[in-house]
Amino acid sequence: MVNHHRAWAEIDLDAVTHNLTVIRRKAGPGVAVMLVVKADAYGHGAVAIAHHAVRCGIGSLGVGTSAEALELREAGVRVPILVLGTLVDEEAAAALHHGIEIGIHSRDRVGMLEKLAKAQGLRARVHLNIDTGMGRLGVLPGNALALFEEIHAAKHLELAGVMTHISSMRGALDETAHEQSQVFERVLDQARERGLLKGAIHVANSAALFTALKPLHSTVRPGISAYGILPGGLPGAEELRPVMSLTSQVVFLKDLPPATRVGYDSTWTSVRATRIATLPVGYNDGVSWRLGNRGQVLVRGQRARIVGRVSMDYTTIDVGHIKDVHVGESVTFFGGVGDKRISLEDVAREANTIAYELSCAVGKRVKRIYIGGEESQLPTQPAGDGRLLQGVQNHEPKPHSTHAPR
Ligand SMILES: *Cc1c(COP(=O)(O)O)cnc(C)c1O
Repeated sequence: MVNHHRAWAEIDLDAVTHNLTVIRRKAGPGVAVMLVVKADAYGHGAVAIAHHAVRCGIGSLGVGTSAEALELREAGVRVPILVLGTLVDEEAAAALHHGIEIGIHSRDRVGMLEKLAKAQGLRARVHLNIDTGMGRLGVLPGNALALFEEIHAAKHLELAGVMTHISSMRGALDETAHEQSQVFERVLDQARERGLLKGAIHVANSAALFTALKPLHSTVRPGISAYGILPGGLPGAEELRPVMSLTSQVVFLKDLPPATRVGYDSTWTSVRATRIATLPVGYNDGVSWRLGNRGQVLVRGQRARIVGRVSMDYTTIDVGHIKDVHVGESVTFFGGVGDKRISLEDVAREANTIAYELSCAVGKRVKRIYIGGEESQLPTQPAGDGRLLQGVQNHEPKPHSTHAPR
């Protein structure tokens, strides 16, 4: 087999379909999935993932910045898109113009969006973000009602959703998630009593969804689980299928005598004669610098160690113990099957980070190759507030009757 790229990330769309099916089952009937595709869909390619998710019946998407939202609109993605966090002021006009929904956390922002929406002659769809313990964005519970009232009074704003974000990576396994949930319920009750509660209500990220935090309300916002990963070995991880693998190829082999130094700062020295393979990927491509002298890769089904520092464009591995390695040989950083597999979580542990960071860090120079995705029809879901309601919800995909057995 000839490898055409310095490095490539294979992205298995059938695995995404499978994971979305698991996510929907966990969400339960009538709960919509807003798929989070921020940071270029955690490195998987937001445009491809968004189109595939919509084909799978996903009713809405969450992104991190308005630029990400506009990229999807430009690529023809028509479902509702929410900027989960916030905008800097300069982003707002274009976002509204393209019908992007925006998270709201302050009175200033209400005033600014009302003015902009009025100038554009439209109604901006906003989601009120309540800070129940994340301490980041969101209005504190004590100030929430005032914001509900202001949004209600603003003629050019429409309350499309109310949200909070759970801080614990262990979801409902952590007591703080339940505390956050209760605080959120009290805010919702107050708004409901005054007739101010409207739109989708959403709380759960992947960790909260997979640990069955209740109530889920109308919509869930999973990201990482759709890509086959759960933080820190949460229950349900075994039901998911990994989506991305990262592979490169050997560009150079060199037989080193003993006591030869390798890489920046000479952090590794050969003890005995060995063979070093150089790979044309470095930390700019997503091979973490912290994997220097720590990480492992798969070559011909065997593990090999990263030796010396990872540099920007190159990584060196010791293949002295592996027979018949040749220039052009595939080398897997994460991916593979069975016991010949390195998971992104394994790599994250070695690099002393989280799988999220490594997945997002797969660089622009790495070619994305999409496989599968031909059979992706799941019933269309509503956006969470009753729009786009068509067909039956939350069914497992039906076997394709015309599909020839493989
Ligand atoms: C990133 C994000 C999510 C998705 O989190 P995962 O842990 O990837 O499931 C959900 N909600 C908000 C507000 C986020 O920023």
